Amino acid sequence: MTEQNLSLTDEIKRRRTFAIISHPDAGKTTLTEKFLLYGGAIREAGSVKSRRSQKHAVSDWMEIEKQRGISVASSVLQFEYNNFCINILDTPGHQDFSEDTYRTLMAADSAVMVIDSAKGVEDQTKKLFQVCKMRGIPIFTFINKMDRKGKDPFELLEDIENVLGIRSCPVNWPIGSGKEFKGVFNRHKNQIEVFDDGNHGQDIAKSITGEVSDEKFNTLLGDALHEQLLNDIELLDIAGDNFDLDAILNGELTPVFFGSALTNFGVEPFLESFLEITSPPSPRSSNLGDIDPNTNNFSGFIFKIQANMDKNHRDRIAFLRICSGKFEKGMTVTHVQRNKKVKLSQPQQFVAQDRVIIDSAYPGDIIGIHDPGIFNIGDTLSEKQSNLQYTNIPQFAPEHFMRVSTKNALKRKQFVKGITQLSEEGAIQVYRQPNGGMEELIIGVVGVLQFEVLEYRLKQEYNVDILMNPLPYRYVRWIENDLSKFGKLSMTMDTLLVEDKNSNPVLLLQNEWSIRHLLERNEGLVLKETSL
Ligand code: GDP
Repeated sequence: MTEQNLSLTDEIKRRRTFAIISHPDAGKTTLTEKFLLYGGAIREAGSVKSRRSQKHAVSDWMEIEKQRGISVASSVLQFEYNNFCINILDTPGHQDFSEDTYRTLMAADSAVMVIDSAKGVEDQTKKLFQVCKMRGIPIFTFINKMDRKGKDPFELLEDIENVLGIRSCPVNWPIGSGKEFKGVFNRHKNQIEVFDDGNHGQDIAKSITGEVSDEKFNTLLGDALHEQLLNDIELLDIAGDNFDLDAILNGELTPVFFGSALTNFGVEPFLESFLEITSPPSPRSSNLGDIDPNTNNFSGFIFKIQANMDKNHRDRIAFLRICSGKFEKGMTVTHVQRNKKVKLSQPQQFVAQDRVIIDSAYPGDIIGIHDPGIFNIGDTLSEKQSNLQYTNIPQFAPEHFMRVSTKNALKRKQFVKGITQLSEEGAIQVYRQPNGGMEELIIGVVGVLQFEVLEYRLKQEYNVDILMNPLPYRYVRWIENDLSKFGKLSMTMDTLLVEDKNSNPVLLLQNEWSIRHLLERNEGLVLKETSL
């Protein structure tokens, strides 16, 4: 993106790659848009939303998304702010999200968790938070909608600690709330920033900053608010956790910020602190040990595949997270898993709201490469080390299952092709009963919306109508033992033994009681929640 000629080291240093996670409606889209506004990538707020409602927002690739006005597929955006080059990975917070959402988190170096101040921590946030925690990435909390009447800020901190089990340290503290929300107090700088809602969040908010004790704030805030702030500050020094950079970078402590994405109050102070505290891309683990981003060997891994973004071209885009070295258009790299050379000729990047062809990219960046059907999720591409493999991306356990078959037996071939492709993309997981054919399959998904996507895409892209029958299972467990040696399993009537696509034995179960039964009645049985 940059016109200057910076070294690889400098390019890495200025990169920040993060995911935004939240429960639907907490304000993720609005906050993302305000980041773009402050970065100068859009001139006026409201454009992302209005484009969404006009049914052609860039991230809404699929018709189904447009119809529903939600983003099924996670998307990526790049923009610049204060000489930082920022990559935002959007993770749909919709309750029906898919594994895609989880995988996107594998490509992020940190996460921003947006919480609605009136609601506190909600369900989807909990799920996404767990994945971030598992990866040990830093998690920043932005408590949004402070311009509305919400919960008490101290209560919100408690909520985060109790529900998510992570310690928190407020960096910015709100001054007032609801109609009285005036600004934030920065504990680091010991400074107040009071905002002026000149243009209802359409433009960058003007602000006045100063020392807490500065008398002008008595007038600006009014005595009562100023007094309350001073009390809060005293309480915070006793109540909150101390700022501890190591604990933050290890994902053990979350820095908390308050603000309103709608009115822009607190957005820029958050962005500034966040960029300062988070680290640039760091070494990634691989089969050859940790790979330093700052090497002259370009490498990266594919974390998402999006098929048929343009129906006329039947194109498939593989999203690659660059982990090391400089990427240059047209370069030839080894596709490690297939042990083949591939030329990356039409790389795309997702800048602000547009897809553009790029000439170069750096560690931390996400590029879209044309996929003629050769890539799988988790594949590594490497310029020099042809045996380099980044650590596998785990498959998450589906929670919803359907028996699926084609309505027309003559379409069996297309049916199998479509299902195979969608499973390669990671949108669905496919199982079949031992010795069963391919006419009837069991499909498992993380979010139920994926069934709708499956039906829609098989019809649109493969011209296949399907029959779907819901199954009552909620849990899947892979069997680690060699079943031929283990003998017959003792299991409850409502448990089903199937095989995954690699013919590994898998159990589908209805409740936790059945899982306990299995473990109690089959001594030595080892079950796993994922296929890795
Ligand atoms: P998402 O589903 O998390 O992407 O949430 P959106 O950004 O689409 O916001 C959901 C709704 O909340 C929209 O109507 C926004 O205008 C509104 N909203 C977002 N941020 C704020 C805020 O700071 N204050 C208020 N009052 N409303 C907000």
